[in-house]
Amino acid sequence: MSERVIPLLDQRHPSLTLPDLPAGPDLGELPLDALRRPLTDLRISVTDRCNFRCSYCMPKEVFDHNYTYLPHSQLLSFEEITRIAKVFVGRGVRKIRLTGGEPLLRKNIEILIEQLAALRTPDSQPLDLTLTTNGSLLARKARSLKEAGLQRVTVSLDGLDDTVFRRMNDVDFPVSDVLNGIEAAQAVGLGPIKVNMVVKRGTNEHEILPMARHFRGSGMVLRFIEYMDVGATNGWRMDEVLPSAEVIRLLQTELPLVALNPSAPGETAERWGYANAQGQFDPGLGEIGVISSVTQAFCGDCNRARLSTEGRLYLCLFASQGYDLRQLLRDPLKTDEQLAATVDAIWRGRTDQYSVLRSLRGPDTSSGTGRRVEMSYIGG
Ligand code: SAM
Repeated sequence: MSERVIPLLDQRHPSLTLPDLPAGPDLGELPLDALRRPLTDLRISVTDRCNFRCSYCMPKEVFDHNYTYLPHSQLLSFEEITRIAKVFVGRGVRKIRLTGGEPLLRKNIEILIEQLAALRTPDSQPLDLTLTTNGSLLARKARSLKEAGLQRVTVSLDGLDDTVFRRMNDVDFPVSDVLNGIEAAQAVGLGPIKVNMVVKRGTNEHEILPMARHFRGSGMVLRFIEYMDVGATNGWRMDEVLPSAEVIRLLQTELPLVALNPSAPGETAERWGYANAQGQFDPGLGEIGVISSVTQAFCGDCNRARLSTEGRLYLCLFASQGYDLRQLLRDPLKTDEQLAATVDAIWRGRTDQYSVLRSLRGPDTSSGTGRRVEMSYIGG
């Protein structure tokens, strides 16, 4: 085994310079970025804290009791989040995903959900409002989340075997509690539920088939995610990535699959349906997804922006710097129109296509000042 070096650096970098604000902006067409991609999807990180210490995301060696999380005053308030979300919705966003950190750790998250659920698109449609969680508090909160207006959840679950699961979350959290959370979410109608499994070669690939068997025919969509080189603290190595093609090959040995068309532009997962005895997709058995963020670039129609816990706008999961929107939100002289004009200008200048470039150049494992921000900060 090669030695793993985990840099102990502060993850927060100086922000990018905001574009100049016009005094009385004239908002026209919805913005397209430099590669003609629209802005339809906003992920909002509501906390940089998590109660799990998954080694691929918030390894214990870095996120220990000495680690300094953002003080409350630096987090966007619910009112600030709702205000900026409304601005984004006016500029094309249709889907908002709350994430973190562990979003259910943010106190009174239901209040924020209520505020976001009340927003409407310019054509008076409600938003597609969802949340990604490790499921640890879901059994307790499923009902209040649903009542607040949340539509569905994505639950992260890296295996069914209790020993494997406890080892991966690294806080000895039992898998049964997450399964109870998923059941509670299903019971209150927070669906269709997606279940995300990060696959690490040598750690949990033997959980792929049991997970598929468990969720097949349940109405939930299990998605296998390639272990990604996000952030700079997880000691990422290519030999721990299990390519999605191998996941599909393994599943096909027991559970026949057929390729399905994408259900929406910009979708991150490639869809596969379970087949019946005639080799046709059987909707009753459902589908799985694979997210090949390492072995197959998918920037071409990326329509996502990410808002960090302290209000920085990141245009790519692999970005190293973001734009400080909190500064504008806390300036009493700035109007919503000016915020919208800023979002437009930032989005129009967007050229990011990290995954495409990486597949040409190889992954960036740098630990210097240009290094990428952590997933727990920017939101997965
Ligand atoms: N705490 C929540 C959760 O566990 O779902 C939300 C935040 S978490 C950062 C969001 C997603 O990112 C999870 O599904 C997690 O497994 C995934 N993730 C984190 N680090 C990753 C990595 N290095 N590669 C692939 N997926 C990763």
